[in-house]
Amino acid sequence: MLLPGLLIILIVGLIWGYRAISHQALLELADQSRNHLTLFVSNLNGVLAKYEHLPRLISTNRRLVNTLGQTDIDQINQTNRYLETVATTSGASDVYLMNADGRTVAASNWNLDRSFIGKNFSFRPYFQSAINGNAGRYFALGTTSLQRGYYFSYPIYRLDEISGVIVIKINLADIETAWSDRGNHFIVTDEDGIAFLSTHTDWTYKTLYPIDPARLDEIQLSRRYAGQDLTPLNIDETEKLEENVNRVSITDGKGARAKDYLHLKLDIPSAGWSVHLFSNTQAIQGTLVLRATLAGFGVLILLLLVTLYLVNRQRRLALQGSTELLEQRVQRRTRELENEVEERKKAEQTLRDTQAELIQAAKLAGLGQMSAGISHELNQPLTAIRNYSENARRLLERKQVEAATGNLDEISELTGRMASIISQLRGFSRKSSGEHSQVSIAQSIDQALSMFRREIESSQIDVQARTDPELSVITDPLLLNQVLVNLFSNSIQAMASVKTRHINIDAHNHDQVIVISISDTGPGIPPNVIENIFDPFFTTKEVGLGLGLSISYRIMENLGGKIEVANIATGGARFELYLPNE
Ligand code: ADP
Repeated sequence: MLLPGLLIILIVGLIWGYRAISHQALLELADQSRNHLTLFVSNLNGVLAKYEHLPRLISTNRRLVNTLGQTDIDQINQTNRYLETVATTSGASDVYLMNADGRTVAASNWNLDRSFIGKNFSFRPYFQSAINGNAGRYFALGTTSLQRGYYFSYPIYRLDEISGVIVIKINLADIETAWSDRGNHFIVTDEDGIAFLSTHTDWTYKTLYPIDPARLDEIQLSRRYAGQDLTPLNIDETEKLEENVNRVSITDGKGARAKDYLHLKLDIPSAGWSVHLFSNTQAIQGTLVLRATLAGFGVLILLLLVTLYLVNRQRRLALQGSTELLEQRVQRRTRELENEVEERKKAEQTLRDTQAELIQAAKLAGLGQMSAGISHELNQPLTAIRNYSENARRLLERKQVEAATGNLDEISELTGRMASIISQLRGFSRKSSGEHSQVSIAQSIDQALSMFRREIESSQIDVQARTDPELSVITDPLLLNQVLVNLFSNSIQAMASVKTRHINIDAHNHDQVIVISISDTGPGIPPNVIENIFDPFFTTKEVGLGLGLSISYRIMENLGGKIEVANIATGGARFELYLPNE
């Protein structure tokens, strides 16, 4: 998208630049040419001015008046020599004296082949004006010499009468030579627009504008251009730059290539002439190409710089954008992480709460399961207490105080046992406080087993506990109790389907770890589910919750220990509790 756009800008820029540069160059050329033209005109004026007053000056010379109407050859020769001196000194081409009829009586070229002496030039306008009492100036092509000349004339008075005319002719070819230049062509046109003077020889006698045929006839009659073909110059104006400054194209002759010029014109009203300068614009083409190339490079470099700047800026913006984006992302991610951390904390808290609730639920469930046993457990001493108290009352009625006291002692002992059962139940239903204390392993096991006294008895389970009475650990007694209760409960339930029922308990210290092992002689755990038994709600029992082992697992983790299970080769399951003992 960027590249074609830049190319278009470049091309438009180059075209515009080239145009601006060529216009500028043409204006510069016009300035230069104007200077040239002014210089040329002032030179031309200088030349003309130099001779302008000469005829009048010499017209007063007595010699000339005296020569007119003379036939004395010596007198004429003297005048000839005088005129020759004037011509040589002034640089004029010819100086000659004509009588009132227009016949040349003395001339500076008296001793040359082309001598004017005896020739009549009364047809020339310069003679006409002088004989009429005016200073004359005229351009014409010499009829004898075929030289382009400019003639200045002045009347010669004898007393108050005009008796003749003195003429000074200058050769304009000298000016052409002095000013000829390959690049610039000066031409001077007369009032009819005929180029009588041109530094470009092909353009001499060309007309710059088409001439009316009647006027052309008149011109031919005056023999001013000695019968030369006055054809128009093949000129086309292509562009007007300023007043009297145009771009033109000129074709020289048929089939020739048109050339481009800058045409400047300056009028010389005193002579009725116009001076033209044709400056070859090819001269500036090279400069133009060079300038355009330079400008093109300039534009290119500028564009490159602009492009570089834009690309750089875009990159910077993109980078800035991506940095901002990155920062935003980082911020967002940080927030997300913070939220995640918060969420996790909440989840952990929820988990802890859930765990605690589950533990509690499991306890309650266990309590439900045990309620039958417990009620039996309490019912038994209650019945016994009732019997003992009945007996005591009867014995007291019979005044057998001693025997009655014995019964009361029994009652007292039974209430003590009940109190202990109740206190266990209370402890069981309480949530863990999280407090650790020195716990005797043997006592803890006994306490847990005491919950199942009735089942153990009714199911005739043989419980063997090998525990060191000194073995103790700092832990949460309630949680340890709960784990043990779960394990005993499972073992008892598992052995319901078997005939030989043993529970072996072993506790020992091994490398700072208390290992409590509980084995039973139940069916063991099917190998395909052994991986899952610690999962919450995994149960193979019809009424089981599947929480006992999963809670035990978490409790052991919380206590910094672990629980493991294995099937015994001879049958049955073995659970091992590991508790750190530091
Ligand atoms: P529940 O007792 O409610 O089923 P548990 O998490 O305590 O939940 O036990 C999960 C399962 O593990 C039991 O359903 C049982 O299949 C198996 N299990 C636990 N202890 C034993 C054991 N001593 N002998 C055989 N299977 C057991």
